[in-house]
Amino acid sequence: MTERHGGTPVPVGTTPGGPSTPVDQTATRAVGSAPTAGVATPENGSLAGAASRPGDPRSGGGQPTDALVALDAVHVTFVTRKGLFRSGRVRALNGVTLAVARGETLALVGESGSGKTTLGRVSLRLTDPTSGTVTFDGQDVTRLGDADLGWFRRRAQIVFQDPFSSLNPYMRVGDLVAEPLVIDGVRDGGERGERVRAALEAVELLPAARFSEKYPTQMSGGQRQRVGIARALVRDPEYIVADEPVSMIDASSRIEILDLLRGLQEGRGVAFLSITHDIASARHFADRIAVMYLGQVVELGAAGQVVEDPLHPYTQALIAAVPEPDPSNRFRRRAVVPGEQTGAADLPSGCPFHPRCPRRIPGVCDVVRPLLADHTPGHAVACHLYPASTPGPMPPGSVALDLVGASSATRRLGPTP
Ligand code: SF4
Repeated sequence: MTERHGGTPVPVGTTPGGPSTPVDQTATRAVGSAPTAGVATPENGSLAGAASRPGDPRSGGGQPTDALVALDAVHVTFVTRKGLFRSGRVRALNGVTLAVARGETLALVGESGSGKTTLGRVSLRLTDPTSGTVTFDGQDVTRLGDADLGWFRRRAQIVFQDPFSSLNPYMRVGDLVAEPLVIDGVRDGGERGERVRAALEAVELLPAARFSEKYPTQMSGGQRQRVGIARALVRDPEYIVADEPVSMIDASSRIEILDLLRGLQEGRGVAFLSITHDIASARHFADRIAVMYLGQVVELGAAGQVVEDPLHPYTQALIAAVPEPDPSNRFRRRAVVPGEQTGAADLPSGCPFHPRCPRRIPGVCDVVRPLLADHTPGHAVACHLYPASTPGPMPPGSVALDLVGASSATRRLGPTP
């Protein structure tokens, strides 16, 4: 089975690790997400300098009232082959409930293997969920077949991570950008040319006529990524998934591309799902941040809230690991979480982070899975250090929840007070 994206057939139900097939899985539903006010910053790669957006309709907490894309209790499990007769299961997503509001930018942050890319692909129906639902503009698109997804493909697009392999090197830029229109049946050459010119101008490849004649190999990485963005824009979509759009281009071009995406989002009102492992760039680009760990959203809130007052120990570790531009801090010791993320094929019981968590509560964190729940309006966390995350009566050992009342300072990563 293949599905079209931007004119390119894309295999469904595959993982970067190889062919695989979604299978059924019992759902465990994560509770609520909480959109809030936005953040935009002039940025140099550090976390400083954010400004909120007063009056943002998403700042009241709860689910977005204007959700464009919504995932509800989505699970994705892949079957992987282990030799001729054995197979394994990889739980790429484990009960994710998340919504992207119209015109907002939501950043998915986490390590490789956390499920970010799978979530983005599910939201575009490039990967089928094992269970749960995906809705777009109020319509359930979870089980629609290729023939019924044409309208959705035109309104939801993706910008790929690798601008070198995602563009056909034998096609001119003008033809690459026009290809989605050809697939959509736009037969009028004049209209196609005008829309291609407008898309190239929107991504600042000027003069558009000259860039239309170039081949990708004649362009820099940043320029190729602009072509990828133009291919997405030419259909005039309402929703774009940007999958690590700056991770493979020069550092000098990254801020330019992020600023370009930000300007397009604000100017056109496009909703972005930005996938990144870099929480600093997420702070620069996003209104809200969702932190993922082993297929689950563990923290969700306004970008400023998540970065300045991180609640989950994993978020705190991500922020502690961000390099600081101040040279006087180069010898400062950083709190680093020990160990590595376990594979999604071997999910720990209870909290998925407990094998690495310096603040785990024995008998609780390794037994009970915390739910994502609002800690403050618009700022949700899945951690037993915060009472709303704990479902039902606590098992013996809940005495450790005395930490619930800890101040912001004592909640930060480090030796347990
Ligand atoms: S639930 Fe427990 S193990 Fe998980 S992050 Fe919170 S304190 Fe750590």
